[in-house]
Amino acid sequence: MAQGVRLIFLGPPGAGKGTQAQVLAESCGIPHISTGEILRAAIANQTELGQQAQGFVDRGELVPDSLILNLIRERLQEQDAQQGWILDGFPRNVNQAEFLNTLLTELKQQCDVALNLEVPDATLVERLLSRGRKDDNQETIRRRLEVYREQTAPVIDFYQKQGSLKSVDGDRSLEEVTAALEQAIAS
Ligand code: AMP
Repeated sequence: MAQGVRLIFLGPPGAGKGTQAQVLAESCGIPHISTGEILRAAIANQTELGQQAQGFVDRGELVPDSLILNLIRERLQEQDAQQGWILDGFPRNVNQAEFLNTLLTELKQQCDVALNLEVPDATLVERLLSRGRKDDNQETIRRRLEVYREQTAPVIDFYQKQGSLKSVDGDRSLEEVTAALEQAIAS
């Protein structure tokens, strides 16, 4: 697939955003920017960001925007992000989406498409429980799904209104979902 593509991945925890973003990032030769991964690395390294974020991540809550927005601003200005990028896990609420719009205008960039991966709840819980991450226990999963419905689902409407949303059925094999995403990006 072509370089120069700028994609946002939306969808609930366990929808396969990380896996699909990784595959597409490799085939397009662009960075996969996952705020969750950046936070997990910061926590593992006990950086200041990591220490501030840890409690929120462990409880399945969103980390405050003040910790995330600057991080995205800096990441999108790095050299490897000038030919395109895939955002996974950001924006996570409407305020972050509005911030991103302003930032992209400032950077003279534009998001090509916001891809929404649709997966039923039963499949999500099954996938999350089999993943074994520290925040993949029953209680945190329940909270993350709640937080998704309350704070992140409105981001879907935001991109719908902006005319850049495409929804893809994510309840299929990895390869089938990748093919459907590639088609959605190309069309
Ligand atoms: P993820 O790997 O995207 O599932 O993110 C794991 C956890 O990191 C989430 O449950 C949040 O606690 C935190 N997180 C990741 N991205 C964001 C974001 N954009 N805003 C706030 N918190 C985030």
